[in-house]
Amino acid sequence: MLISPVELSDLLTTTLAQAAPGAVGGGRTASGGSGSEAVWLMSPIKPILLIVPLLGWAWIVSTIYDKDAARWYMKRRAWNLTHIGFAAGAVLLFLALPSFWIGWPVLVALLAADLIVYAAHHNRSSAVPETMKWSFDLEKMKEARASREAAKLAKGVTLSFKGPNGEVAPPEKGTPEYDIRVAAESIIIDAIEARAARVEMVAASESSYQANLLVDGVRQKLDPIPTQQAVTIIDFFKSAAGMDVSDRRRRFTKDIQMIQDGGKRALRVVASGGSSGMKLVLTFDPEDQVKLPLEDLGLLPQQRSELDALVQESQGAVLVASPPLGGRTTTLYALIHAHDAYTSNVQTVELEPQATLEGVRHNVFNPLQDGAEYSTTVRSILRRDPDIVAIGELPDANTAIEVTRADHERTRTYVGLKADNGLAAIQTFVKAVGDPKAAAECLHGVVALKLVRKLCLNCRIEYAPSPELLKKLGAPPGKIKKLYKKGGQVLIKSKPEICPVCNGSGYFGQEGVFEVYTINDEERAMIASNDLIALRSSFRKRRMPSMQETMIMKAASGATSVEEVARVSSSGQRKKAPAKKPAPAT
Ligand SMILES: [Zn+2]
Repeated sequence: MLISPVELSDLLTTTLAQAAPGAVGGGRTASGGSGSEAVWLMSPIKPILLIVPLLGWAWIVSTIYDKDAARWYMKRRAWNLTHIGFAAGAVLLFLALPSFWIGWPVLVALLAADLIVYAAHHNRSSAVPETMKWSFDLEKMKEARASREAAKLAKGVTLSFKGPNGEVAPPEKGTPEYDIRVAAESIIIDAIEARAARVEMVAASESSYQANLLVDGVRQKLDPIPTQQAVTIIDFFKSAAGMDVSDRRRRFTKDIQMIQDGGKRALRVVASGGSSGMKLVLTFDPEDQVKLPLEDLGLLPQQRSELDALVQESQGAVLVASPPLGGRTTTLYALIHAHDAYTSNVQTVELEPQATLEGVRHNVFNPLQDGAEYSTTVRSILRRDPDIVAIGELPDANTAIEVTRADHERTRTYVGLKADNGLAAIQTFVKAVGDPKAAAECLHGVVALKLVRKLCLNCRIEYAPSPELLKKLGAPPGKIKKLYKKGGQVLIKSKPEICPVCNGSGYFGQEGVFEVYTINDEERAMIASNDLIALRSSFRKRRMPSMQETMIMKAASGATSVEEVARVSSSGQRKKAPAKKPAPAT
């Protein structure tokens, strides 16, 4: 910042004192100036009237606005210049106007206008969460803050939940039900503050449950919860969602609404149980998490055009691979959404649809039905000759075989499976089919992805990479001049503080890292003869960046860090993706 608002306030006061000594100096008659000025300068109340709004303005700008702009990453310097501009204008106008009683309201109005302009910008900014927006009603603001703080201190009820049976009324204070409600809410509040996408509660031992938050794809442990309390918390969410609380084994899924400070969010409650105990998974805004357009997934431009070509073709099978929780459902949904659901027959086969896509028929596979086989469901849908089918998972060999039997000229099938990269996905599919020729014949493309955490732009740290690091990354020397690493701290008023945007984690949000290959006739022949080495070099020749290359490009652009690339690259290598039956729901 060029000049701090406090310094500015001092400067303005000095300027005023020099221009009109009596105004600041305490009512002595000014030697110069016109007669009317001499009169107003004599009043002792006027200097106070002049100083109070200036000091008030300076206090708000320097202690609230400056920090706020830093916190939400809102062009702090530009805003400080704007504030200074407003104040300088106000003072100049005040000095230019002939009388105090005309000049003073103008000065106050301009200072107020500055405060209102910033507050309005703060409230409109998408970076500021709904619950952090300001109310112009200062009294209300103060009350809201006081009640939030008091509630947090007293760990009271601050949220409201709306399920199929309406709003869940808060229990009376002092009752055991009230304590349960507060405990349940405190988990939700912790999750919201940590920007968690979901909360999981699972039995860790006989005596305790473990609650985990999933933040940007990384699990964070909360303190263990005694079993008795954990069970009552799970029962609270089940009952809010209208589930049968006494049935502790069956799997239930229900979306409820959660309201915090007037802001509404969807909360998906998934409860299940087994011999070791119950399990609860709460997902925030579940539909928003999986409904993203192709352009928002993180594809490089050349990968995007390769994918567009694949979508256009609308024939054969395309494998869509990722590690678990690796963005596969989001990618499958984005792909089928890229097809016109009104002119073509678009269907899915899924264990549990994560969202309802308009115009798309979601077929839910129920493993609890007698004799139910995933492959049988896939077969019966493929027999109806749909145009586009997304198959959520590849649980067994029979499903893979059914995919190869589809009418590939009529139907495009997208097959979701667990694999680490494109070649591994093809390998997994060929192995499941058991016949490389049959597998090769239907394959038209492969899309593989992983999710990397994006560096927090508010606190990432720039550095010059060493030649050794560049060599390790396989980057040509001199090409990458700077890289970024995670920060986690920012300077607020020259004092290091935990970065308020990312809560100190150094990362904010996730993005897909892709590998996209269309498969041509020669490559199909290579797959048919099980020659994956030839296939790999054929992919290389196409100059389509591999997943590893894409990750390095993302690090070079500052979107992510080398450390994150290393974490994500190694995470898939620990275990190979086994083909297994879909987990039964009980
Ligand atoms: Zn940060």
